[in-house]
Amino acid sequence: MADSAHTQSPFPSSPVMPTLYDGDKTIQFSCHKGIGCWNACCANIDITLTPYDVLRLKTRLGISSSDFLRQYTVPFELEKDGIAGVKFKPVEDGTACQFMRPEGCSVYEDRPTACRYYPVALIAMRKQDEYTDRSSYALVKEPHCKGHEVDRPLTIDAYRKEQGVAEYDEQSRGWRQLILKKMSSGPTIGKPSLRSRQLYFMACYDVDLFREFVRSEGFQNSFDLDDATNQRLMEDDLELMQFGFRFLKQVLFGEVSIAAREDAVRAREQRLRELQEMQIKRRPYDPADEVLEFI
Ligand code: SF4
Ligand code: SF4
Repeated sequence: MADSAHTQSPFPSSPVMPTLYDGDKTIQFSCHKGIGCWNACCANIDITLTPYDVLRLKTRLGISSSDFLRQYTVPFELEKDGIAGVKFKPVEDGTACQFMRPEGCSVYEDRPTACRYYPVALIAMRKQDEYTDRSSYALVKEPHCKGHEVDRPLTIDAYRKEQGVAEYDEQSRGWRQLILKKMSSGPTIGKPSLRSRQLYFMACYDVDLFREFVRSEGFQNSFDLDDATNQRLMEDDLELMQFGFRFLKQVLFGEVSIAAREDAVRAREQRLRELQEMQIKRRPYDPADEVLEFI
């Protein structure tokens, strides 16, 4: 199956931009048991996962996000020399999805965004001077997929509704914005440090590890979270994931939405002054240092 929900383009290696459609474009498609190509798409996978995909699947399987990432995913470079994404790890010595069964998908109700969208591809774009991203769609036509030959016309909007992607898109909006922001900022941000990339990976994909990070004394001493917020973050994966996106915007791009403790700010300023006075500059200042030192 092609990766149909890539954050920028589903055809990163192709110089040809696919035809873009709005949601009211009518397509013709049906995928159903009994079709000649049943499971063909799941037998040869290349599927990028969103943070919400990881959260849904690890919850369904009843395992921690760390265990899920280890067992079912492989990291890859979402953009060259930049932040990482995760893809499904296929079965050992093969190309099929680990969740594929003869009767179909064994995690159907929690299948990832890319599986829901297929054969439509979401193309999220952001103009340099705009904060919000806008969505267009492309149609992926692979020779093995017979679904295009079935006479069932419907609009892309109707297909998205049928496949239940609205919730997935909404929950991953903050993550897509982070990636688009990083991509459009280009050399002004440059290659993020190893620490920034580790922080990004943890906050986006490893929600259970991120919870321990937020619970840590260092984090709590640095940021001013009230008891109710803390309790929600400790109990609710979705709240924590959304908080993680905000946190990353703050740490990586300076968009402050989480108040820092005044004493922590003063201590940090003092530390920076001391460093400057002593001229200890073994490497450039990295904002991720301040938060990662607490792990
Ligand atoms: S998660 Fe399900 S639908 Fe997606 S590739 Fe795996 S088996 Fe196919
Ligand atoms: S119709 Fe397309 S999406 Fe459905 S099983 Fe066949 S190859 Fe996969």
